[in-house]
Amino acid sequence: MRAVLTLAFAVSLLLAAPAPARATTWGPAQVACPLCGHENAFERPRSYGSYIYRWPSRFQLVFWPATEGRSLYSCATCRLTCFMWDWPKRITPEHHARLREVLAEVTLPAAESYRKVPILDRLAVAERVYEVVGLDAVTRCRFYRTVGYHAAKKGQPERARAARQQALDLARALADDPAQAAEAKEHRVVVACLLRLLGDPDGARAALDAAAGSKIEGDDAERAQGRTEYLDELIAALREKLDAGDLSDDAPERDDDH
Ligand SMILES: [Zn+2]
Repeated sequence: MRAVLTLAFAVSLLLAAPAPARATTWGPAQVACPLCGHENAFERPRSYGSYIYRWPSRFQLVFWPATEGRSLYSCATCRLTCFMWDWPKRITPEHHARLREVLAEVTLPAAESYRKVPILDRLAVAERVYEVVGLDAVTRCRFYRTVGYHAAKKGQPERARAARQQALDLARALADDPAQAAEAKEHRVVVACLLRLLGDPDGARAALDAAAGSKIEGDDAERAQGRTEYLDELIAALREKLDAGDLSDDAPERDDDH
């Protein structure tokens, strides 16, 4: 009886233990290319938790797994390259002919695995792919924020700056778009994040002030409330950074990409 109780106590301790801060895990995945059919050896997430929303990339409104190069698939045969969640969702047959033309113009270094192809090279091809398939403004803005994140992480500030400027132009238009009013709070926070990284603290503060006065709207009231609270926390944290004169890129939470 004593042994059973001890075991039960140990199990309860295990269950109560907080998840490690970096507990995301990946596993191998065989994935057929939606364009050429090649069976690629990629990876896909196995486990993660809501802690990813607390990691420093939140100050760029960029979230795991977009922060990891292994989420950017690139076909070993035809070089089709896009994020795993768009593969094959956005690579639909009406785009195949144009994609083949575009991919015939690109080159990527040969590598033993997709992860060994430099992330910035893959992002350049992904940009061409996304131009063909067409992204809505919200998704394009997120893509260019992600390019900015990786370019900064790889020590290419000029490329990061150019991508962030593209994202900023999109975010400003979204923040002013009446059709996007329900999401205006997030778009304004995006504007603030980008202006901070582009060296405009006063502009960032003004965008945060505008964001603080609005709420996310939506049919799912609980979810909308949760997102509003998340953004309000982020606004407070960004104000602290601005007050401290911190306009720096935030340290990446993982650096295991190649
Ligand atoms: Zn392919």
